[in-house]
Amino acid sequence: MAENVWDSKIECMPLKELKDLQLKRLKKMVDYVFRNNRFYRDRLKEAKISSDNIRSLKDIEKIPFITKQDLRGFYPFGLVCTEIDDIVEVHASSGTTGKPVVGPYTKNDVELWAEVMARSLWANGLRKHDIMQNAYGYGLFTGAHGFEKGAQKIGAVVITISSGNTKRQITIMKDFGTTALVCTPSYSMYMAETAEFMGLNPLKDFNLKIGCFGAEAWSEEMRSNVEKRWGIIAHEHYGLTEIIGPGIVSECKYKKLHINADHFLPEVINPDTGETLSPGEEGELVFTTLTKEGMPILRYRTRDIAKIYDQMVCECGRTHVKHSTIKGRSDDMLIIRGTNIYPGQIESVLMKNSEVGGNWRMVLTTEEDVDTLTVEVESKAPISQLEAMDLENSLKNQIKSVIVFTPRVTVLPPNSIPQAGLKAKRVVDQRKKE
Ligand SMILES: [Zn+2]
Repeated sequence: MAENVWDSKIECMPLKELKDLQLKRLKKMVDYVFRNNRFYRDRLKEAKISSDNIRSLKDIEKIPFITKQDLRGFYPFGLVCTEIDDIVEVHASSGTTGKPVVGPYTKNDVELWAEVMARSLWANGLRKHDIMQNAYGYGLFTGAHGFEKGAQKIGAVVITISSGNTKRQITIMKDFGTTALVCTPSYSMYMAETAEFMGLNPLKDFNLKIGCFGAEAWSEEMRSNVEKRWGIIAHEHYGLTEIIGPGIVSECKYKKLHINADHFLPEVINPDTGETLSPGEEGELVFTTLTKEGMPILRYRTRDIAKIYDQMVCECGRTHVKHSTIKGRSDDMLIIRGTNIYPGQIESVLMKNSEVGGNWRMVLTTEEDVDTLTVEVESKAPISQLEAMDLENSLKNQIKSVIVFTPRVTVLPPNSIPQAGLKAKRVVDQRKKE
């Protein structure tokens, strides 16, 4: 058992002890932010909360939430709880929809980050002898840096190739004998297509064994397609700049996502009412950092939809809370003809078809005042017009069974949908707005 657990004393600790540790750390954290940040002090005073009012973990519900809007209001360093001198590294989200979210780290925060990433990568099977190709973009974004820190803590080789220049990625992957690939799931599919285009066989011409994928929501069907395409075990990663970057969870060999809950305390809430839900109920994930110094965060609303399970011990031996795969950001939910639809639902259907390639998107238009959904999908290999029509009809019926109405489906040749960069762009909404 222990060979797959980086720190069994912590990761497999009895649940009761874990909860005691979380409570002790939560009280300390409430006290810490109260003493060190004016915003937190005012908010906690207003809610009449101090560390003395936190007597059980349930008392966390008395603490007000923090939203992305709050963070924008404190851009860039308003929530920092140390002297600026103590910050040694700063990251930020891409900020495509406004001011970026900033993540300032102290020396201890950087060490914490390396530790939780080492846990995650070790759980995925990464070891000292591995060669990890880091195809996340090196920039302000946390992704590449978090994976690098964790892999180096384990002692693996990190190829700091960054994202893009796919043919070069493939050549390096072959020549350097890469054993672990780190990128978004959609990019790994694009890489497989590129390798084939270069006359290489993803199953035979490479040394790849592990894939560590994150930064976009993906379906289990997509995961299984990536695994088959490359002949690897694909693991999921989940992270947020607001919390620490990647490293919030460790996915074990049974593909259960264990939250590193000695550092990140999870809750699930009803996104409409803010009320706390019970384990197993689906809702919005909320995280509280228990040990971060630079920019700790209390009850951050992630807008990601998932379930958490807190009682069962996993076969891997870890006791830490598990969460389901992320169904999608609540922001990603689309309302089409009055039906709530997550892109992941469409992806699950598409990826069950072996003729379908990795890239696809939903195009929404308004026709005669009615929402029209066209699902564009690439075929895995070139196919005839007749085969494409058959596939279109079959996909139409399959999608209709999950979203109630019949969409249009267009099957396109491989590599014809534009690659959107780091993260796949699954929705193009051209509907008329009221
Ligand atoms: Zn497990």
